[in-house]
Amino acid sequence: MSGKDYYEILGAGRNATKDDLKQAYRKMAMQYHPDKAPADKKKDYEEKFKEISEAYAVLSNDEKKAQYDKFGSAGMGNVNQEDIFRNADFSDFQDIFSGYGRGFGFDEIFKGVFGGRMGRQGYRYETRGDKGEDLEYTLSINLKDSAFGTEKEIRFFHNVKCPECNGSGSRDGKIITCDKCHGRGVIQTYKRAGFITFTSAQTCPKCHGQGNLNQNPCKVCHGTGRAKKEANVKVRVPGGINSGDNLKMTGQGNYGKYGQGDLYIKINVMEDNFFKRKGDDVYCNVKIPFTLAILGGKIDVPTLRGTAVLNISEGTQPGTILRMKELGIHNEMRRNVGDQFVVAEIEIPMGLNERQKKLLIDFDEEMKKSKHRFKFW
Ligand SMILES: [Zn+2]
Ligand SMILES: [Zn+2]
Repeated sequence: MSGKDYYEILGAGRNATKDDLKQAYRKMAMQYHPDKAPADKKKDYEEKFKEISEAYAVLSNDEKKAQYDKFGSAGMGNVNQEDIFRNADFSDFQDIFSGYGRGFGFDEIFKGVFGGRMGRQGYRYETRGDKGEDLEYTLSINLKDSAFGTEKEIRFFHNVKCPECNGSGSRDGKIITCDKCHGRGVIQTYKRAGFITFTSAQTCPKCHGQGNLNQNPCKVCHGTGRAKKEANVKVRVPGGINSGDNLKMTGQGNYGKYGQGDLYIKINVMEDNFFKRKGDDVYCNVKIPFTLAILGGKIDVPTLRGTAVLNISEGTQPGTILRMKELGIHNEMRRNVGDQFVVAEIEIPMGLNERQKKLLIDFDEEMKKSKHRFKFW
């Protein structure tokens, strides 16, 4: 087959399923993400990223895939880049396109790579009438903050309405309806490939799909109506939140002509050295002196709320799990307070002096006399 082999580009077989393609694309996209490129390979990575994204855009779309499978890339010949991406759904890859610094996502990358603009709603190519893109921000917090809730201040960049032209994109308000597409933003094109004529709707080249022409673009935003601005937002994180949870901040995404997108704050709870979380409960291991385990008594143990007293009953065995009621996660959303569970480890003393050893030998003699004999099996 002549032209591009989209399957080969993604390293997928001819009969790859939708899921196979998704996985193949995910792998490649992570590898060739422009943000991961070494300084001298930036262009190469961008090209590769663009190529694999194009392949996935075609193969993940049933209609385009059918056309491609039938006619090869010749069948795609009259479809321009914008059309290839128009109905492409990259919504499953939001995690790839965010989290690479700056709090910006897919939109920023595609703007750089394709010179285009990706919209919200599953990151389809923006059509007129869309509001601005949603953004994602990853917020890392420690276990204690996740247990009781916290307030964090985050800084990120988003696009706002251009203050110069008030979002119109025009310096003087002279925006006229495009005469080529009569305001529709698309034009029909016909192309013959052998005896087949392909009809396709193409983005109007004169107005770039806007439907109107900006006679005198704003100098500050170059007609986009958007300006980049650093935002500083306070986020209230509720107690009980866990890794993977999202907090939505309405209207903190990017500005679009039809409204501001939203900001999604993705929570990452960092691992704690001492406590392990399971649901709303926390687990920890505590070393108990062997004499205390044998005789019973009280010991101070760390909890999320500071030190607390734990009762050790006589004859506590190693590995025993002791419950400290309601000393776990305070889950505001589920109105629940978890417990703390302490796994008892028995501490065996080392480097005993002669007197201590003597006492233990006497103790051992005493044990041998009594019915409490040690068993080693
Ligand atoms: Zn037009
Ligand atoms: Zn402007």
